[in-house]
Amino acid sequence: MIPLVKPYIPPREALLPALEAVLYSGYIAEGEQVYEFERRFGEFTGNKNVLALSSGTAALHIALLLSGVGPGDKVISTPLTAEPTNIAIAQTGAQVVWADVEPDTGLPCPRSVRDLTDERTKAIMLVHYAGMVCDMDAFHALSKETGIPIIEDAAHALGAKYTGGDVSPYTIYSFQAIKHMTTVDGGALALGPGTDTQAARRLRWFGLDKKVPRLENDIERAGYKYNMNNCTAAIGLCQLDFIPAVLDRHIANGKYYDKALRNIPGLTLLRYHKNTEPSYWLYTMKVDNREDFIRAMESRGVAASPLHLRNDRHSVFAKSKRPLPALDKFYQKFVHIPCGHWIDDTTRETIVTAIKQGW
Ligand SMILES: *Cc1c(COP(=O)(O)O)cnc(C)c1O
Repeated sequence: MIPLVKPYIPPREALLPALEAVLYSGYIAEGEQVYEFERRFGEFTGNKNVLALSSGTAALHIALLLSGVGPGDKVISTPLTAEPTNIAIAQTGAQVVWADVEPDTGLPCPRSVRDLTDERTKAIMLVHYAGMVCDMDAFHALSKETGIPIIEDAAHALGAKYTGGDVSPYTIYSFQAIKHMTTVDGGALALGPGTDTQAARRLRWFGLDKKVPRLENDIERAGYKYNMNNCTAAIGLCQLDFIPAVLDRHIANGKYYDKALRNIPGLTLLRYHKNTEPSYWLYTMKVDNREDFIRAMESRGVAASPLHLRNDRHSVFAKSKRPLPALDKFYQKFVHIPCGHWIDDTTRETIVTAIKQGW
């Protein structure tokens, strides 16, 4: 079976000596490897103001707290995502407000988000689902107009591009097992204009200031233990040597499907927004008779699945329930097929042939 997701681990010869050196160095907590990882990851993404963390969820939590989100506030978000996006909002005590999606992308709809904003709305959470980029032109305009900050959940979107120029205050990445790049577990928070890096650093480590000697420190606000450590940072540093090629493979496969899957009866390709380029963590499309499609693919050795439960189905979000007609339709039809670094030229042709056999 060709899997839908698979961790990328660098070659043994590259990874193990680097990891061994750190493990026996006498310093395995947050230290030089973590700061070097921040420098290199920042260069890679183009935003040098970045904090390495223990998970993407930790990054979401800090971004929400720095946006001033707390009990009684509202955060607009999307149900079409992995649970951490919205559980992080629930952790702050704020109410999740579900925006509807765009029918032809599955991404949060700017018009729906605009209609939902009010004086209690403290943040807009955007998810670049499966590596496709939201309509950032529209969302930056909305954020400027309303003054509500944007948090970009880019857990699926390392290597995706927005070329419109504006930078959001908060962008989070995940290095969990199955993301484009893994450090086993880990995450990062990239801070944009107008954000308080020092406050973010304190929230990362109990509320302590690392620059002040421990015996002279004063915690004003309780923080968390969200730091990355030198061992996972060493894995991350090694990954950064290989990840450009991994991303290239995801993107080349995605572009191949964009062409090869045109004009197939019962299959609708998705649209990508102006000024954006997806990084195809998964390849997403809409199919008629989805259950038949999934069964047919399975019988031909290809894993196909919608992967995520719409988050508004969870009891913890019962109070947020509202009609989402575009999501209802999209949710019946969307499906992912394998697209990542483990799919070579021959395999992707096999997958296209399997689809063209029909369902
Ligand atoms: C994986 C993921 C996260 C959180 O990442 P962790 O590193 O597992 O905490 C957040 N949002 C989305 C959409 C994800 O898929």
